[in-house]
Amino acid sequence: MRITRLETFLAPPRWLFVRVETDEGLVGWGEPVVEGRAEPVRAAVEVLAEYLVGQDPLRIEDHWQVMTKGGFYRGGPVLSSAVAGLDQALWDIKGKAYGRPVHQLLGGPVRDRVRAYAWVGGDEPGAIRDAVAGQTEAGFTAVKMNGSGRMTPLATRAEVRACLARVETAREVLGEGRDFALDFHGRVSPANARRLLPLLAEYAPMFVEEPVLPEHAHALPDLVNASNIPLALGERLFSRGEFLAPLQAGVAVVQPDISHAGGISELRRIAALAEVYGAQLAPHCPLGPVALAASLQVAFTTPNFLIQEQSTGIHYNEDAELLDYVADPEPFRFHAGHLLRTERPGLGVDIDEAAVRAADRAGHAWRNPVWRHPDGTFAEW
Ligand SMILES: [Mg+2]
Repeated sequence: MRITRLETFLAPPRWLFVRVETDEGLVGWGEPVVEGRAEPVRAAVEVLAEYLVGQDPLRIEDHWQVMTKGGFYRGGPVLSSAVAGLDQALWDIKGKAYGRPVHQLLGGPVRDRVRAYAWVGGDEPGAIRDAVAGQTEAGFTAVKMNGSGRMTPLATRAEVRACLARVETAREVLGEGRDFALDFHGRVSPANARRLLPLLAEYAPMFVEEPVLPEHAHALPDLVNASNIPLALGERLFSRGEFLAPLQAGVAVVQPDISHAGGISELRRIAALAEVYGAQLAPHCPLGPVALAASLQVAFTTPNFLIQEQSTGIHYNEDAELLDYVADPEPFRFHAGHLLRTERPGLGVDIDEAAVRAADRAGHAWRNPVWRHPDGTFAEW
C-alpha cells in the first residue's frame, strides 16, 4: 500500500483536517492544527506531504521519526502539530487496513468507557451557577472552568475574592460527589498562584491547570508545595522531553494535546513517562471529531488515564461544532458523562467528507482575543 495524496481542509470554528489517501482506496483522517495558527500548520503539512506521498502508510514510527527529526530543526507548535495530525491519519489507515480499532493495535483496552468533563466558561463569574447546573443535569460528573478573567500580576483582594467566589459556587452546585477543575490559563503570575492555591484547597478542585505559564516552569516545585491541590499542565508542551522537568517538579496530571504533541504515537510515550512519576493523563482537546476520536483511542488503552477534555458547548466555538463534521454521531454520544468504547476500525470516527469540503470553501481565520490591562499593556488571555 502506498500513500497517493494528501489534502487539507480549513474548517470553522478554528480547525484543520487532513485527509490521507492510499492506492488501495483506504483513507485516513487527522487534525493537524494549533488554534489561531492553522495556516502555518497547513503549510507545514504540505511540506511533509512531499516526503509522505509514495510511502507505505503502515510504517508509522519510521515516518514519525523522519517527519519530526528529518528536517534537522525540530519541535515547536507548528511542526509538532503537523506531525500530530498526520500521525492520527496514519493510525486511522492502519486500523482500517487490519479492520480493528487503534486501541486494539496499541495493546487492547484497559477500560470500556472514558470519563469526560464539560466546559462551563468562567470568564463571567455570574454565569457559573447556571452553567454548572446545566452540565450536571446533562449527566457530566466533572466540569472545568477558568479561574479568572484578566488578572493583574499582583492580584487585588477583589480579584482573589472573585476567583474564590466562582469556586465556592461551583462546589455548592456540584456537591461532594462530582468534580471541578480550575484552569489558570497562564493568566496567573507565580506570585498570584502562590497566594491562590492555599486559599482554593478547601474547595478540593480535581486539579488546577496551567498554574503558571510554561516559561515559568522553574516556579513549579514551589507551587506543588504551596497546597495539596494536584497541578496539571501540558497543552503548550510538544514532546515527551518537555514533560520531564514538570514531572520531576511533582506535577500530578499531564495534559498533552493529541493534535499538538506528536499525535497518538507521542501521547502514548508521554503517558508512559507520566506513569513512571505516578502522574495521570488528561488530554487537552478543545478541537474537532478526529482529535477527540484519536484521544479516546489512547484513553481506552492507557492505564494512567484520568479524564478527557472535549469541545461540546465550549464557550469560544461559535460558528460550528464537533458533530457538524461526522456522518454518525453515535461514538460522541455521552452516557452519564462518559464516552463508550466501540470496535469500529481505525480511529472509529465516520467523517462527513462533504461537510468538511463545504466548510473549507468558507474557511476561517480564527484568532484568540488579545487582552490588555487597564494601563494598555498586554494581558494574558
Ligand atoms: Mg487549558
